Amino acid sequence: MKRICVIGAGFSGAVVARELAETGYDVDVYEMRNHVSGNCHTERDPETGVMVHKYGPHIFHTDNEVVWSYINKYGEFVPYVNRVKAQVNGQVYTLPINLLTINQFFKKNLRPPEAQKLIADLGDQSIINPSSFEEQALKFLGNDLYKAFFRGYTLKQWEVDPKDLPASILKRLPVRFNYDDNYFAHKYQGMPKDGYTSIVNNILNHPKISVFLNSKYSKNDYNKDNYQHLFYTGPLDSYFDFRYGRLAYRTLDFKSERHEGDYQGCAVMNYCDQNVPYTRITEHKYFSPWENHSNTIIFKEYSRSCGENDIPYYPIRLLDDQVILKKYEDAVKQEKNVTFLGRLATYRYLDMDVTIGEALDIVNKFIELKKRISI
Ligand code: UDP
Repeated sequence: MKRICVIGAGFSGAVVARELAETGYDVDVYEMRNHVSGNCHTERDPETGVMVHKYGPHIFHTDNEVVWSYINKYGEFVPYVNRVKAQVNGQVYTLPINLLTINQFFKKNLRPPEAQKLIADLGDQSIINPSSFEEQALKFLGNDLYKAFFRGYTLKQWEVDPKDLPASILKRLPVRFNYDDNYFAHKYQGMPKDGYTSIVNNILNHPKISVFLNSKYSKNDYNKDNYQHLFYTGPLDSYFDFRYGRLAYRTLDFKSERHEGDYQGCAVMNYCDQNVPYTRITEHKYFSPWENHSNTIIFKEYSRSCGENDIPYYPIRLLDDQVILKKYEDAVKQEKNVTFLGRLATYRYLDMDVTIGEALDIVNKFIELKKRISI
């Protein structure tokens, strides 16, 4: 059997490589950065000893049993519930919007059905099928909550008017008419005890897998004669040398600060006011509540348009991008013996569990197909 090439050592690349290796393939994984695990990368801060999410907060949550049991084979997960706080106009609230948020915000003490009625009355019922972020917010939350919690934050995060953003972005967040402030409604939620990078290293730790760090992929360097198939998880536009232009992304800047003791008392505090330049502050030690650290490290997170040499985070996917995306998707169909997968290669806003689930599906189909062909 000829070797298989995998580009990128994030979750997608690592899962594909491991499944192939288990089946008997030799796999070479090329990663342009000096570490595996992509934007989920975690490492200990040498000064405070805190495990830091180098590319911003990542909380593992899923309903997918297959994915949950898969990931647990490669590292221990400690139960963790994401409880996000948000500052609006000098007040601290709990997110996602729940009964406490509603009662605090409107200075009331409503019970669930009363709060539901209030929000239904405030919601814009003339909007039948919300097509944008703003319409979704106005229909289901009304103007006051939308302006306070979403408009400013979203303008900072995306630099796009919420009228022009898809409703799907807001649909990531539930609205609850009880006091449940768990950010995610999924059955399984946890934090890897030794960080995400340790998990990805464990996935890649197989005698049939060779990992090459600091190895930027270029289509011209890749020798098809050496490999029977390529699994590509890098940026879609970059694979095609940007022939149809660049797909737009948001990138993030993190300004770190170290403090004595505690800083904010929780892992993530969002800053929803537009005049605060950052979107959120992450205090990393709260992601590992089972550890003790006398000092702390925080990241102030700033969002901006992604330049050529920046790390892409969030695909924007506005109309212009969709036109370019379509051209790249057509070009993908012309490629032989190449599979595109993951957040960057498919230009989608993906959670970790979805990424892993898709990688498992794709590689298992590939393995099945090859088996059938060889019979
Ligand atoms: N959002 C907001 N205010 C908040 C939190 C989220 O307006 O306090 C909006 C914002 O547009 C963001 C989207 O909801 O991009 C999705 O939020 P999520 O927390 O899922 O973002 P992530 O953690 O993936 O950056």
